[in-house]
This record gives sequence, structure tokens and C-alpha cells, in this order.
Amino acid sequence: MSETSPPPIDVKSAVRSFMAHSEGALATYVEACLHCGQCAEACHFYVASGDPRHTPAYKLFPIAKAWRHQKFPLSWLGFAPAITEADLRDWEELLFDSCTMCGRCTMVCPMGIDIAAIVGVARQGFVKAGLGPADLLAAADASRDHGSPLGVTAEKLAERLDWIADEFDTKIHLDRSPAEVLLTVSSIELMKYPDSVAAMAKLLNHAGVDWTLSSTGYEATNFGYLAGKPDIAKLMVARVNEAARAVGASIVIVPECGHAYGVLRWSAANMLGHALPYEVLHITEYLARLKREGKFRFSPMAESITFHDPCQIARRGGATNDARELLDGFATDFREMTPAGNDGWCCGGGGGVQAIGRAAPLRHKVFRIKMDQVEQTGAATMVSSCSNCRLTMDESKAHWKWDGGLASLVDLLARHLIEDKAA
Ligand code: SF4
Ligand code: SF4
Repeated sequence: MSETSPPPIDVKSAVRSFMAHSEGALATYVEACLHCGQCAEACHFYVASGDPRHTPAYKLFPIAKAWRHQKFPLSWLGFAPAITEADLRDWEELLFDSCTMCGRCTMVCPMGIDIAAIVGVARQGFVKAGLGPADLLAAADASRDHGSPLGVTAEKLAERLDWIADEFDTKIHLDRSPAEVLLTVSSIELMKYPDSVAAMAKLLNHAGVDWTLSSTGYEATNFGYLAGKPDIAKLMVARVNEAARAVGASIVIVPECGHAYGVLRWSAANMLGHALPYEVLHITEYLARLKREGKFRFSPMAESITFHDPCQIARRGGATNDARELLDGFATDFREMTPAGNDGWCCGGGGGVQAIGRAAPLRHKVFRIKMDQVEQTGAATMVSSCSNCRLTMDESKAHWKWDGGLASLVDLLARHLIEDKAA
């Protein structure tokens, strides 16, 4: 049977997977949750749908049930019934389609419960049971088998980069060694937003950075992590790690992709079992550093813009101010949304939800929150630093026939770059 057609439900494997994490985050949830409901209004899925099943705490019910059955001393008397196949089938859609692992609920939870992390762990149990959205699982398998979720092999990468260099009139370095900086890309950018790839190349070239892409470790996205397949998650991280070591990079740049940043920046060392001998920086962090060093000047942009904070870069990543540093003095009519920054609303497509076709109607509902926010600012264009957010928002924009503008931050910067160096 192929990976894309899941085997029959295996409840025991799911429980084993849940329990493998029970001494950490899972136990915290089961013991600490007050069932106060404060997290409900923080979740864009609940706010958009009004469905009580979309409240954050509710999504964790099957894991809590499995945990209590295993740990409760009198479970054999029926006080803590076992999790069933029906439970797993009921909650599969909630765990995958209605949690973007954005972490907004944790900001309001009085117990500080990291529901996003627990959802990530829970997904592994569902996959062990033979559940999980076929399209998301297929994206993970394509990453393992072909190097990227969209099937961009090393050969296709070289062809695509040649085309981008020609089309956007820039120089792109592939397999240059040694190199101080290893740049990674998202295949979403490669195939749908090549302007972002060209923009990164233009900006790095302009600043005189010694950089390269690698045909053995180019894909920044990690669908293994999103799909609950930790073996594939580790493989994707290992490819980038080996490529960085091979060229002797002291910095690895994550492109405009939120979850790629979270995985490479915060989880990679634990996955690999050793510290990383290089810095991992989001492209906006690195560009802000170069700007502080006087490497860029940008012509002013008068068009009104607002900025969408990708959850994994801002709230869960800590790189909230870098985008604003880059916009400072350049975007002369910048209008902040309310809320924004660490409190910002998710686009609705993070956590792999963008890749789940059946989740599209729910994603579109969620995007209305963002549309309303942008309209309240009156800004003509919403800028983001994540291609997955951009894709999610482009699709929902088309669904609602919304006339608001959407743009990539690095692309805007490259378009306004003043070619003669400041210093
Ligand atoms: S992590 Fe985000 S999407 Fe998931 S339950 Fe919490 S607020 Fe909702
Ligand atoms: S806010 Fe925290 S404690 Fe309250 S219901 Fe949600 S997860 Fe439980």
C-alpha cells in the first residue's frame, strides 16, 4: 500500500505515539488545563466559524482521553474509557485542518499551555494510526523522495534557477564552495513566486555577500514536521545541515517561509542531536542586519502598506521587529494593523493547512479576519515575509474577489533598491 493511501486505523499505534510524549507537554495539558475557555477567542478558526469544536482546548480531547486511560488508577472500572477508532476519526480533521500551530492561544492561556506544540505531537499519533490528510502526507513524501514537496529535484532546481536569473536579470549562485552564507528556498517561491528568489539574490549580491544555494540541501520547507512524520522532518533538516557544513557556511538563511524558520531555527539542533555550527537567520533578520551595516539604500515607497506578521517568524520566532526595521524610512505610508506583531492574526494556512485541499472553505472564512483588519487601516497593499502566507492569502483573495494588494517584503525591497552602494 502506498504512503498516500493510509492503512486501516491502528488505534494502539496512535496511543503508543501519544504516550511516548506523555511525560512532557501532554501531561502538562492534561493536568494543567482549567477548562476556562479563554483560548477560544484567540483562535482564528473559532472566531471565523463559531464552532465550539474549533476552540483550542477541545482539539486536544483525544490525547487527553488516551492519557487519562493509561494513567488513571481506576480506568479499568470505566472511569477513564479508552480512546476509540471513532474518536480518532472524529478528531482528525480538527487536528490537521483547524490548527495552524500559530501559538496565539498560548498567549492568553493562564496556564501557558503550548497547544500548538501538542497538536504537532498529536499529529504524529494520527499518522501512526493511518490517518491524516492525503495531500499533506503526499507533500511530505515528495519531500523525502524528490527533495521538495512540489517535486523540485536537484535537476529541476538548476533549470529553474537558470530561468529565474535570466528572467529577473540577476546572478544566482548554485553549489559555490566555500561560501559564508547558505541560502535555502521554499519550493512555493521557486514555482509560484520566483520574484522572491530573484529579490533575495539581488539584495545579497548588492550587499557583496559570499553566498550560495546548494543542490543537496536547498529546500527550506519541512512537510515532514507539518504532516506528523518526524523521520522526514529530520531528513529535511539533515540535508540543509550537511549542505551548510559542506560549504563551510557560518550563516544559513531561511527564505520567506514561516514554519521553515521555526523548524531550522528552533528545532533542528534537537532533531539532529547536536548544536549547529552556524547561525540560522530568517531573510528579514539578515537583511535588517545588512541594513544596519549600511549595505542598502532604498528609494521611498509612497503607496500605503500594512504588514502581516507570519506567526512562526514573529510570535513563535521572535523576529518581529526585523521586518519593521526594513520598512522604516522606506515605506513612508506604513499603517500597522490592530492587532499586529506578536498578537497578530494568522493567515489561516500555516501548520500545513495550506496544503490540505478540503480545508480551503475554512481557510477562506479565516481570511475575512485579515481582510477586515487591512480594510480598517485603509492600506492599499498587505505585505508579508512568508510565501506560504502569501499563497494562502492569494487564494482567499481570489475566492472573495477582494481587491486588496498582496506583496512580498523582499520583493518590495529589491524593487526599491538604489543600485549605487551607500558605503
Ligand atoms: S495554535 Fe493557533 S490555530 Fe491552533 S488552536 Fe491555538 S490559536 Fe488555534
Ligand atoms: S486557556 Fe488554557 S487553561 Fe483555559 S481552556 Fe484554554 S488551554 Fe485550558
